[in-house]
Amino acid sequence: MSSDHDHQLPALTAAERERYRRHLILPGVGMEGQQRLKAARVLVVGAGGLGSPVALYLAAAGVGTLGLIDNDVVDVTNLQRQLLHGTSDIGRSKLDSARDRLHDVNPHVVVKTHAGWLTSANALDIMREYDVVVDGTDNFATRYLVNDACVLLGIPNVYGSVFRFDGQASVFATPDGPCYRCLYPEPPPPDMVPNCAEGGVFGVLPGLVGTIQATETLKLLLGLGDTLAGKLLMIDAYGMAFRTLRIDRNPACPACGTREITQLIDYDQFCGTPGLHSNAETRVREVEPANLRDRLARGEPLQLIDVREPAETTEGIIDGARCIPLATLEHEAATLSPDVPTVLVCRSGMRSASAARQLMARGFTRVESLAGGMMRWFDG
Ligand code: ZN
Repeated sequence: MSSDHDHQLPALTAAERERYRRHLILPGVGMEGQQRLKAARVLVVGAGGLGSPVALYLAAAGVGTLGLIDNDVVDVTNLQRQLLHGTSDIGRSKLDSARDRLHDVNPHVVVKTHAGWLTSANALDIMREYDVVVDGTDNFATRYLVNDACVLLGIPNVYGSVFRFDGQASVFATPDGPCYRCLYPEPPPPDMVPNCAEGGVFGVLPGLVGTIQATETLKLLLGLGDTLAGKLLMIDAYGMAFRTLRIDRNPACPACGTREITQLIDYDQFCGTPGLHSNAETRVREVEPANLRDRLARGEPLQLIDVREPAETTEGIIDGARCIPLATLEHEAATLSPDVPTVLVCRSGMRSASAARQLMARGFTRVESLAGGMMRWFDG
């Protein structure tokens, strides 16, 4: 991606050559790679838990221009995980706090701050100035916004998310790779999405995921190694297990497949942000594991659909369940009966709820989602 300015890479000063010595002797980086980093412009969306390690490592590595967008003030409850900010920053804007910290980490880096939130009105103008965008947001509306804007602009989107002890990372919107919508065509219903404030987060987890995002960003800028494009890294900090699932580009994806999304939409409405419009008719019914066991034992006729990726089902699958990964559900829905009771299953209950909404939108009348997914099924 740096090929267009290869012929005009900025020279390093003596002070920079000294600072980056461990990179300059590293095969794969070297002088040219370090100059590429100096020429690079990376936007970090969110100066919070994920944005902290991302910005700290990218600044330390010598990425020449770091953009930060945020509109929050440092709060004492942030400090358990948001290492850009310190106790003395409580009450300051996160952008001011981050800029000071990053200048101390590396005064050679230009830090551009964008105060406010990313919106459909400003996203394209802000993002087009950058080579890579790192998604450090904590809500679905901004995540879809970042994704769609990256696809429209042709800028890689380095994705990360955390919840409790679980993390995910990927690289979306590369020239041949899938995008966030290929993986999650629909947002989960708003009433099923606890955020970090409601659900809690293990403080070190955004550090782990954000450091992976920083790693992928540097590799994209340097053209090094294999990135997470086309793959979803799933991190279970509780069991300390890392799994990588393959994600294919979905030809029916409205963003990167059919390209019917030609401009940014209202993402709050798309994600059903409470208060904007009633979601009552699309609320997903959940079935408790014990109840589902009873019904299966009674031989009740139902379509049991497991929407996990094939690689995930090696951990076990409910007898009689049919595997239809979420990304292919749209395609396979025609093979299902809209009038037969349908129970959707995934790992935690998030993707199955999204799947349930997809089927309800297609006229399926008796759809339920297994509460807590296979994680709870195995527990009880
Ligand atoms: Zn896509």
